Amino acid sequence: MAEKKVTENEATPKKAVKKTITKVDSAKATTPAEKPAAKTAAKAATPVTAADKSSAKTKRILAVIFWVLAIVCEVLAVLVFIGKIDLKFMSQMAQLIAFLVLDFILVVVGAQFWKQANHMDPVSEQNQVKFWLWNNMGVIVCCFAFIPFLIYVLFIDKNADPKMKKVASIVAAVALLLGIGISYDWNPVSEEGKAQAEVTLGDTSVYWTQFGSVYHLDPDCQHLNRSSEVFEGDVATAIGTGKTRLCKTCAKNFNIEIADNGAILSGTAPITEAVEEIVEDITEEPAA
Ligand SMILES: [Zn+2]
Repeated sequence: MAEKKVTENEATPKKAVKKTITKVDSAKATTPAEKPAAKTAAKAATPVTAADKSSAKTKRILAVIFWVLAIVCEVLAVLVFIGKIDLKFMSQMAQLIAFLVLDFILVVVGAQFWKQANHMDPVSEQNQVKFWLWNNMGVIVCCFAFIPFLIYVLFIDKNADPKMKKVASIVAAVALLLGIGISYDWNPVSEEGKAQAEVTLGDTSVYWTQFGSVYHLDPDCQHLNRSSEVFEGDVATAIGTGKTRLCKTCAKNFNIEIADNGAILSGTAPITEAVEEIVEDITEEPAA
């Protein structure tokens, strides 16, 4: 694999930004010596490696810890609201806002760990309801982290100071909506989808940018041309870092069938052998 490096084509005229390509090692930690063997081995047999699973487990535990702490902050916010807790060095309003903001941060950080874990070790999409609930556990926790507080402030406590009530409910409502938007998994990946991507692409290098949600097969894809830093790795690593969809342009150029959500369709034949030649053709094309 190391000998096959797609070089920058000097004749390519429309190179907007000079790219640096950073290699990202997969969690599988394959040594160069065992790489050729791994390439010919049946990839479908190990859709998720043990390393991925254990790393995903750690992230899920961290998510749960953050979420428990978030609920603790919600309880503390209620206690401040009713005057049961008073940290003398801050005003009651400041304490209330501080606990709600902390609640928000903990919910959102937990959700990021949760999503990362689901991209590394995805669940099956055979049961759509379970698939949605599991992937969006962060959204559910976010509701639990703010809705009880809102209900208490708006409907249960009748004697609270109106100004405090107003500020508390606005802060909690904004945190709730923002938290739902951030915790929602906009690019979920299923066990089947990840396995199909690995079967189809094998050890072929794919490329992605830090903040995008797609991966590319062609390092000179037009959609990568504005990025100065591009990462390279196998498709399992790309999906593990949240790049769950194959670029539509790359899919077309490599004749890979994809669904509307960018997932490689099941039944798509492996392209490992052909892909390197196609990469060369594509990178040379603009020179003609
Ligand atoms: Zn592309």
